Amino acid sequence: MDVLKVTPRGYCYGVVDALVLAKRAAKDESLPRPIVVLGQIVHNRHAVAELATYGIQTLDTTAGEARLDLLDQVPPGATLIFTAHGVSPAVRAEAARRGFHVLDATCPDVTKTHRLIQDRTRDGYFILYIGTPGHPEPEGAMGEAVPGRATLVATVAEAQSVEIPPGPVAIMTQTTLSQWDTAAIIAALLERRPDAEVHNEICLATQLRQEAVVKAAAEVDLVVVVGDARSNNSNRLVEVSQQVGGTRSVRVDTVDDLRPEWLTGVRRVAVTAGSSTPSPITRAVIQQLEAWGVEANHAR
Ligand code: SF4
Repeated sequence: MDVLKVTPRGYCYGVVDALVLAKRAAKDESLPRPIVVLGQIVHNRHAVAELATYGIQTLDTTAGEARLDLLDQVPPGATLIFTAHGVSPAVRAEAARRGFHVLDATCPDVTKTHRLIQDRTRDGYFILYIGTPGHPEPEGAMGEAVPGRATLVATVAEAQSVEIPPGPVAIMTQTTLSQWDTAAIIAALLERRPDAEVHNEICLATQLRQEAVVKAAAEVDLVVVVGDARSNNSNRLVEVSQQVGGTRSVRVDTVDDLRPEWLTGVRRVAVTAGSSTPSPITRAVIQQLEAWGVEANHAR
């Protein structure tokens, strides 16, 4: 059995920058303590655990709390880090009002969408934002629109039924969606409003990882995606491997989740990783699969 290492995979520049910012903050003794991250800095529990070793606290949002409400848990005078997913203007304003020392790790690709929503909102557009409900990125981005002048659309069925007011309409997207699902949702919206302005904001890192895994999926019998259960882009890699690449795919958080029985009859397996997955975790998965591959080849 062979192991195909898909490239590109793993950390994108937005994740690297966010982690560097947090670690630099931990080393900067002039910054107020404690240092608190408002949600998971990137959606990976190993990356979050590593920051804890630097003395950085994470206010988790497992119960899906809005980040505005989480601010109540930040101690007065703290250094507060905004995550790579971005925050709404309401969170920014409240953090400033409370006097926190704020460091912003928002990915520039997310900031670009925020600016676009601000611009179109100013010009009177209604925003149709394609995204994943409950994820922090849509929460932050949609917060840029005037209340009642933006709607979250998650599926083709919703695109067919969502209420769209008369007047100018702009379609925007979360950065980490499946390109193929998003194209179908955009098409459904355009069928209803051919005049809509479309801004597909899926980032380049997401596109390249999806395209590479779809290509690899055609050459293998199984695709293993290394990523956290809460990582939107990791879950999309599983989805596109199956739906577009036509190959069985599984997500693992670590090497411990690998099951030898998945490899029955598998001659070639591809491994990729979400853009928030630390490389050592992916490396351990590859090494285990390679070890099993050598065993299987000897047994033949
Ligand atoms: Fe930025 Fe894209 Fe990486 Fe998200 S996946 S942090 S938007 S580069």
